[in-house]
Amino acid sequence: MGILNVGVIIMNQVGQNLYFDDYSPTADMVVIATCFVIIVLVTTSYVPKTKAFGVFLAIVGWLMLAAFSDVICHDWYTHVTDGNYTGVYVVRVLYHAFLFTNLLLYVVYILTLMQIEIEIKKPVMRLSVVVYVVVIVIDIVTTVNGKGFNLNKDGTEISGVNIFLIGYLIFAAICLFLMIGFRNRLYKQIMRGFYGSVVVSFLLLYLQGKHGQSSYTVASFLFPTIAMLYLVHSTPYDIEIGAINAKALEDLVRYNYNRKNDLIYMSLLIPDFDMEGKSFPKEIQKVIRKFASEFFRGAVLFQISNGHVVLMARKKMNSDYENRINKLLNAFEAEYEKFKFDYKIIAGVSIEEISRKNEYISFIRNIHRHMKMNTVHMVDYEDVEEFNKYEYILSELGDIYRRHDLRDSRVLAYCQPVYNIETGKYDTAEALMRLKLQDIGLVYPDQFIPLAEENGYIHVLTEIILQKTCDEIKYLINEGYDVKRISINVSVLEMKDLAFSEDIGKIIDNNDIPNEKVAIEITESQTENDFIVMKSIINKLKEKGIKFYLDDFGTGYSNMERILELPFDIIKFDRSLVIASDADIRAKKMVESLASMFSNLNYSVLYEGVETEVDEDRCIRMSASYLQGYKYSRPIPIIELKRFFSKVDA
Ligand code: C2E
Ligand code: CA
Ligand code: CA
Repeated sequence: MGILNVGVIIMNQVGQNLYFDDYSPTADMVVIATCFVIIVLVTTSYVPKTKAFGVFLAIVGWLMLAAFSDVICHDWYTHVTDGNYTGVYVVRVLYHAFLFTNLLLYVVYILTLMQIEIEIKKPVMRLSVVVYVVVIVIDIVTTVNGKGFNLNKDGTEISGVNIFLIGYLIFAAICLFLMIGFRNRLYKQIMRGFYGSVVVSFLLLYLQGKHGQSSYTVASFLFPTIAMLYLVHSTPYDIEIGAINAKALEDLVRYNYNRKNDLIYMSLLIPDFDMEGKSFPKEIQKVIRKFASEFFRGAVLFQISNGHVVLMARKKMNSDYENRINKLLNAFEAEYEKFKFDYKIIAGVSIEEISRKNEYISFIRNIHRHMKMNTVHMVDYEDVEEFNKYEYILSELGDIYRRHDLRDSRVLAYCQPVYNIETGKYDTAEALMRLKLQDIGLVYPDQFIPLAEENGYIHVLTEIILQKTCDEIKYLINEGYDVKRISINVSVLEMKDLAFSEDIGKIIDNNDIPNEKVAIEITESQTENDFIVMKSIINKLKEKGIKFYLDDFGTGYSNMERILELPFDIIKFDRSLVIASDADIRAKKMVESLASMFSNLNYSVLYEGVETEVDEDRCIRMSASYLQGYKYSRPIPIIELKRFFSKVDA
């Protein structure tokens, strides 16, 4: 269709004489005004400062120049009285050059936006620049020697070689080639928007050709530009809270890093809302909106996740930023008194290393992860060191995950023997994981289990621990030790994977040990959905003889109905209950009756974190079947377990 339109334009332009002063400046004035509005819009609102945006701004600028020169050219013409049109010719050539610049910029824009590989980008750019230079040179030459654009004394315009049209067509062809050839690089709806704008441009040119007009040439360039503004560079504001998305934060950091601007930032996390399906309630949104605009000059608010926002501003524009931060925190205190939602707040100044890597989001998240609830943390260099460690652990975890080596030497199985009150012996134990990493040595679960869970690596770690636990069970059996079972810890997250029970079953089978020698510890499910998944998996694995422990009982909100619906063998009372039962009589009564209830229902009760003889005595009198804690042993490498276990015949 494009080709057809263009054919009509050529025919019309060659076939009839145009009157140069048929021109009306209206269209060009509209272009100038529209470009002006676009510039106002992008400077007053926040626009991600991407490379493509830079090219877009250049396009708008050159478009204004082109429209302006078109106006000047025709205006000059009406003022010529002596028949000397040299000035008009010069401006006319300039006008074409501006439009060609724009066409060249379209090519650059498409190459940038679609992230086209260097192997294609280079030849396309080279071709475009050659076309650009050649058409401008030909335009100049044909204008000078009279073979191109020429004006008669009576104001008729004689077009010889229409070099502008030829150049336009070549550039249009290059752009269309890229847009169609690489259409899959961008979201379909966005591509449709661009195609639409191109069709409108061609239509306008066709209509102006048909009516022997030339006033709308520049205007036809406007539609792709508006499409760019709307489809690519519009502001991704969340209207209610006034925040922009996390991707835009990266753009802002890159932009300011390249210009060596320091930034200050504040981060607010409210964990209650930071979950799928939740968001800040209206009254909190209002407060955040106020905070985002009142305390810092030129601050931009980013929404990182449902319950997490980050405010960023230029340090230079807020040189008294320490004051401003304090004022904000004081105001926050007052708001907190009203709402009482648990929070974590971070404030800091940009750090070269983090800016260079453009990793503020994970940097801030990592600080939040380590800090206490309802505190404010001022970022310092220790946080960077902590973050580097985190990144190192994460990359090692990723590597462990990809290798999927069940005997990976970086994953250590530690183990804590459990005292069996009935037999008076150690015949069960809990496997506990450690990492041993080259650069930092031994790493404890609180430093890597959450990371492994968040990144989907946890299941492989469980498989490795299970393998190493099976190795030890097999060894103990072969050596004649009385080993009833060893439990491993499993995360609720990994149970959601359909292959979970199969993977576990496979490893135990491959090791040729009885299924009942392995137990799985899980914590209570938080949601109904988790509970349903857990129930079906526990039932499946229980059929095979694997035992189940409910871990950390007493730490969360317990749902007795759910607990009783699951066929647990052992309920592990968390150390906090052991401590509580020592502190006051009411708590003791509660723990005591919970334990006796479970034991009446045929569960075994295990107390965790038994540290002293006093703890031990008390727990034994509170329906204990098993005891675990530093009183007996700290976690030890699993191969040392035999020190605690006794031989079957002994
Ligand atoms: P958990 O399952 O509740 O494990 C018991 C934790 O309490 C262990 O910490 C253990 O060293 C510690 N502990 C044992 N006795 C005492 C005591 O007398 N006093 C005190 N204060 N603490 C005691 P650890 O090894 O640092 O593990 C922490 C948590 O990490 C575990 O809590 C468990 O939730 C998780 N974890 C450990 N290994 C694994 C694993 O292989 N897989 C998964 N998914 N999680 C694991
Ligand atoms: Ca456990
Ligand atoms: Ca526990």
